[in-house]
This record gives sequence, structure tokens and C-alpha cells, in this order.
Amino acid sequence: MSTLHLYDSLTGELRPFEPIHAPHVGMYVCGPTVYSDVHLGNTRTFLSFDLLFRYLTHLGYKVRYVRNITDAGHLESDADSGEDKIAKKARLEQLEPMEIVQRYTVGFRAVMQAYNALPPSIEPTATGHIVEQIELIKKLLADGFAYEANGSVYFSIETYLKTYPYGELSGRSIEDLEAGTRDLDGQQDKRHPLDFALWKKASTEHIMRWPSPWSEGFPGWHLECSAMSTKYLGAEFDIHGGGMDLKFPHHECEIAQNKGATGHGGARFWLHANMLTLNGKRMAKSTGNTLDPRDLLAGNSPHLTKAYSPGAVRFFIHQAHYRSVLDFSDSALQAAEKGYYRLLSSLDVLRQRPKGGPAHGSWSVPEWNGRCSEAMNQDLNSPVLIAQLFDAAKAVAADQNDPAVLGSDGAATLLQLMETWMFDVLGLAPEPHSASGKYQKALDAAMSVVLDLRRKARESKDWSTSDALRDALAQGGIVVKDGAEGSSYRVE
Ligand code: AMP
Ligand code: ZN
Repeated sequence: MSTLHLYDSLTGELRPFEPIHAPHVGMYVCGPTVYSDVHLGNTRTFLSFDLLFRYLTHLGYKVRYVRNITDAGHLESDADSGEDKIAKKARLEQLEPMEIVQRYTVGFRAVMQAYNALPPSIEPTATGHIVEQIELIKKLLADGFAYEANGSVYFSIETYLKTYPYGELSGRSIEDLEAGTRDLDGQQDKRHPLDFALWKKASTEHIMRWPSPWSEGFPGWHLECSAMSTKYLGAEFDIHGGGMDLKFPHHECEIAQNKGATGHGGARFWLHANMLTLNGKRMAKSTGNTLDPRDLLAGNSPHLTKAYSPGAVRFFIHQAHYRSVLDFSDSALQAAEKGYYRLLSSLDVLRQRPKGGPAHGSWSVPEWNGRCSEAMNQDLNSPVLIAQLFDAAKAVAADQNDPAVLGSDGAATLLQLMETWMFDVLGLAPEPHSASGKYQKALDAAMSVVLDLRRKARESKDWSTSDALRDALAQGGIVVKDGAEGSSYRVE
């Protein structure tokens, strides 16, 4: 039986996962910047880490999962310039910044709940940890890794390079990094173009500000994650995650701050989820190339032909490995939905299976379960896990003709294990309320009877009956469409 291996972005290796303080696991994931609604790309990253949280819990670990809320310090530009994203939105909408933070934090939690993501153990905010961030800056200044200039404090890459390498996570040399950085235009306080802000003195217009020994100002974006991960998980912890685009500069700077302050880079494993694309381009708030995860559930987007259940969307997401790019398309979602409902139907078949056949069948459930674990142990290979679930569905179908395939005990164990993998680990919801295989089938059967009655009424020119049927269905949210091929229906 294999053990869990995770791919560490820092070393580029697939390594066995051994927690520092087993059975406890410390996991930190960079949360959203709450100046706008999360899009489906953000959702994909958070669901990837929900999968990891669920799998670690399934393996019996006691996970302290910290996912922060970035509610200050994230400027429009990665080069420490531009407005704070939250302050800008507050200015545009003439609201208090904390009203913006509250609105989008509540929205983010609602999306996470709708997609059946488990809440993290701790959800700390940047504004709630200004004291810890100031203490961290003091330590970096005392150890010589930072310098003050005109009320702002910067991390010194040149000093840091005397002791530690920089650029390992993004796999870039200092020369490459320097070449990619604009000169110090407008940032004369910095000694080196790669230096980054730990504390910035607030200009008169900057509304989010706190007192500090250096100036009334605000912390740099990278600092909050170093301060909060260290506070809640220690200087050395197990896993740090985020989307691929956070590798540089965010996580690279976090590692430098951690090493400067504690001598440890923070996490033993750095995990990065790959991007969701729409029309081949990265989904990003900045370009507006986005899909709202709530619109998928309502079928409310020009990119969609219909509404999807949260389970179908999660199934689509986990059918790709978290480190692969995933392109969104309505047809891929439709295929995912079909596959997902096939698995739900298999569960129904198992639940209703008559007792019969031998106790154990010819198809080995324990061996199959071992293959499921094997898949997840290989860096959370959810597409292979899903392929295994389809294999199980085939065995369930074969067992319907021949109860010696699963056997009665085998079928009972398979039902329980399929539910575990699908609901506990993959986070799919049983969906009693929406169009799961069973309910969809029942609705289709009832609607075919009703549409047949209506067809007969129309053939005999009984328009009042035909219209009454259509209107009654519309009252219940069922819209009938008449076409050349006959009538079809959809649920609004
Ligand atoms: P943000 O709120 O912009 O800081 O992003 C929250 C999380 O979503 C971060 O971990 C990002 O790396 C991640 N993210 C942003 N865009 C995408 C995308 N298109 N696909 C997957 N993850 C993304
Ligand atoms: Zn972070």
C-alpha cells in the first residue's frame, strides 16, 4: 500500500508526505483579496485545497487549516505601487473599506458553502494582525534584512542574498528577476529593484492606515501571510498552498521574510494549483475574463446553455489534476454532469440492490479501494480516482445481471466506499434537492406522460387543454418549448 506523496513546487519533487508533528498537520492557503466577487478560477484553487484538506482528514490527520482573508495591503501593482485594491473599490463606491471587505467576505463564504467546501479551521484577516506584522518588521530590521526609508520599510534582497538564495520557488535567477523588474521609477526609496515593501507610509489620500514606529501607514501584501502562518502554525509547518500565479512575487517574498525572521522558509511543502482558463485565457479579475460561480448554478451566463448543480461543477473541476491547466467549456461541463449523474445512479442501484448472490463476488472491492487510495496518494490524482469510480459503476451494472459479480457483502461495502470517495473526499454533494440521477429520471418519466397528453390535445385541436397544461407547468417553473421535433422542457 502506498503512502501519500505530494509535489513540492520548491524542490520540484514528488516526495512522501510526513507531517512534522503527526497526527497534526499545519496547512496554510492564501485566501482571497476581498475587493470583488471570487470567480470560477479562484473557486477552482480553493476547491483544490478543499480536496487536500478532505483527503488529509480522511487519512486520519488532524489538520489545522488556515486560510486568510486579504483585507488590506494588496496594491494594484506587484511593484509596491498603485492604490490598495480595497480602498480603491471603497472610494469608487463611496463606502467604508470595511463595508467592501464585509460584502465580499460574506459572498466568498457563500460560494464556498454552495460548492460544499469545508470551512478552514482559522480564517484570519490581515487587518486583524497589524500588531503581528509590525513585530515581524521589527525583527527583520533588527536582524539587518530590512531598512527604513522616509517612513516606509523595505526588505533588502542584497542583504538576504549574502545568506540565502532568492528565486528558488519561481526557478528564476537573480539576473532574470532583475531583467523582469522595472527600474526604480517612482520608488526612489528602494535600494534595489527587487526589494519589496514591508511597511508603506500612507499618502494623504490613503484611507486604510495604522500607526507604527515608522509612520502612519499599512503593511505590504506579502507580510500578512508570513505573520499569520507563523502565528498559527509555527516557523516550520507542513503545507503552504495557493494558485500558480502566487509563486512570484508573493510566495517568493514570503519565504524570504520567513527565513530572515526565523531561519526557516515556512512550509515543508509548497503546493500550487494551476489556472482555470476561459477561451484559452486565464480567468482573471483584472481582465474581466471571468465566470461567476453563482451564475453557473443559475444558468445565467452567455457561456452556458443551462444551469448546473454544484456537484456537477466540482466533478468537472476534479476531473482535471490540480496541477494541470483546465479550460472551461459548457460541453465539458455537460459531459461532467452526465458522468456524475451516472455515478449517482450507480449508488441508487446499490442502495436498492436485492440481497442475493454470494457474500463476496468475483470483482474485488478491497483491491479496487486500494487503487482509489493509490490514485490519491500520487499527489491527489483525482482524475484517476474518478476513472476508478467509473470502473466501479461498470461492476455495479454487471452485478445487476449477475449478483456473483459483487456479492451481497461486496455490494454493501462498495456502496459505503463509493460514498466515502465521492462525498467525503471529492466533496460532491448527494443532491437530494436537485436533478440527481434518480430525481431526473423520475421527472423525465412524469414529463413524458404530461407532454404526451399535451401532444394528443394539440392533435385534436383542444387548445384550451394544451394551454392549461403549459401554464400549470410554468407555474411550477417548468417551461415547455414546442419545436418541429416535438416538445421539450426545462426547469427554470
Ligand atoms: P486573489 O483573490 O486574486 O488573490 O486570488 C485568490 C486565489 O485564486 C489565489 O490563490 C490565486 O492564485 C487563485 N487564482 C486566480 N486566478 C485563477 C485562475 N484563473 N485559476 C485558478 N486559480 C486562480
Ligand atoms: Zn498569501
